[in-house]
Amino acid sequence: MKSFCVTTPIYYVNDAPHVGHAYTTLHADVFARWHRLMGDEVFFLTGTDEHGLKIAEAAEKQGVDPQALTDVTSQRFKDVWAKLLIQYDDFIRTTDERHIKAVKAFTKKIYDSGYIVKDTWEGLYCISCESNYTEAESENGLCPIHKRKLESVKEDNYFFKLSEFEDRLIKYYSENPKWIEPETKYNEAFSFIKSGLKDISITRSSFDWGISVPWDETQVFYVWFEALINYVTALGYESDSSRFSNFWPNTVHLIGKEITRFHCVWWPAMCMAAGIDPPSKILVHGWLLVKGEKMSKSGLNKIDPSELVDEFGLDQFRYLLIKGSPFGPDSEFSYEELKRRNNSDLANNLGNLLSRVVAVVHSKCDGISPKCSSDSELKQDVEDAVEAAVLSWNNFAPADALEAVWNMIKRTNFYLEKYEPWKLEPGDRINAIMGDSLEVLRIVSILISPVMPTAACDMLRRIGLKIDLKNVDFNEEIRWGQYLGGVPVIKDVPLFARIK
Ligand SMILES: [Zn+2]
Repeated sequence: MKSFCVTTPIYYVNDAPHVGHAYTTLHADVFARWHRLMGDEVFFLTGTDEHGLKIAEAAEKQGVDPQALTDVTSQRFKDVWAKLLIQYDDFIRTTDERHIKAVKAFTKKIYDSGYIVKDTWEGLYCISCESNYTEAESENGLCPIHKRKLESVKEDNYFFKLSEFEDRLIKYYSENPKWIEPETKYNEAFSFIKSGLKDISITRSSFDWGISVPWDETQVFYVWFEALINYVTALGYESDSSRFSNFWPNTVHLIGKEITRFHCVWWPAMCMAAGIDPPSKILVHGWLLVKGEKMSKSGLNKIDPSELVDEFGLDQFRYLLIKGSPFGPDSEFSYEELKRRNNSDLANNLGNLLSRVVAVVHSKCDGISPKCSSDSELKQDVEDAVEAAVLSWNNFAPADALEAVWNMIKRTNFYLEKYEPWKLEPGDRINAIMGDSLEVLRIVSILISPVMPTAACDMLRRIGLKIDLKNVDFNEEIRWGQYLGGVPVIKDVPLFARIK
């Protein structure tokens, strides 16, 4: 059995969960579900990032303890993920005792190896980013992202000697050209490293909402330095060596492009300093650019994914987000486009195929399904589509995998229009056409199940099958020719509602 671990960034609890968070987390969920379908041993990790000055200030403003504040705000993420049917295996919070212990062990190892030293840090700081900027990076003293005034800070801190890892990172990048995808992000991070690395300040002494430095209790770790360690905490770093050695070599981090430097430069160096390998893969996605009237007024970070689930339905929202915004480049996201795609791909293509087939089986075959044939003219197209879908899933391109499945759905709709079984007299010809169409629906259900888990089960139920997708041998199940028929097919309301 192969192992597969996928992670999302841990989300900063000062934000309310929005559709940008949903985008990354849903991708992690569909990758995890795909690997479970393949029979792999899967560990899907998400969670929340809870320390730092911004949280301390927000708590003070509200007159509450920072821990009490993060208890509430962290829960909001769990609530949204439940609503989106996100099936994570672990939800880590950086205030968890297990994380605090792992951070202390991890950093102590780096400190003992001589890669952490004390020095004076002087520079500009944005509280919103929890990030340092140089004079050159600031825009007239403002944060380039938040446009808020940067604060001048001078304090004695501990520094991680990132500069000492320049050569090792260059070697690692050269030897692992696919470890960051897409290639543009690999190139960006690689050039950044080659242009020369500076040591980084990793502790703060001006506030205390953080994990204290094990060898100097007057300081707490800088939130980013500590947060990255969550990935190994959850896998059992220094607490469960068999889990750690099973999953860490097969771990894929999904991140947004704004946090590339932390993940692609700092994190591999931190791993090297602590004596472990860097993660096996980092997939970087672009931003969702909100277009169209209904949503762009509010901006991406105001769009609540729960509301879109209420409006479109769970599986529809999952499909629309995965299909409409391919992982990797920036992509546009608009209400009008969601609606259009819902009505065309879901209601008109897949929903229509299912309801047509069920209707003809009822009107011409007494509601009992015929068996598929072994030599259908659909067979080759279906096998090609399955192959293309599997390849795309393995390349972390679920939108392309869905494209392949939808080609098969369209092909089958054409097939029905060509032979018009609803005009034929009951008999062998109709039986063959309907059996083959049911076989396509069976295969479609399996292939869409990582993205549309409830619709997939519902389709199988309607075509009279009881397949437990949690316990299938995918390579057996996906082969053409296994719809044996002889079972009642079920008439029901349309699988996907049209949105007016
Ligand atoms: Zn900022």
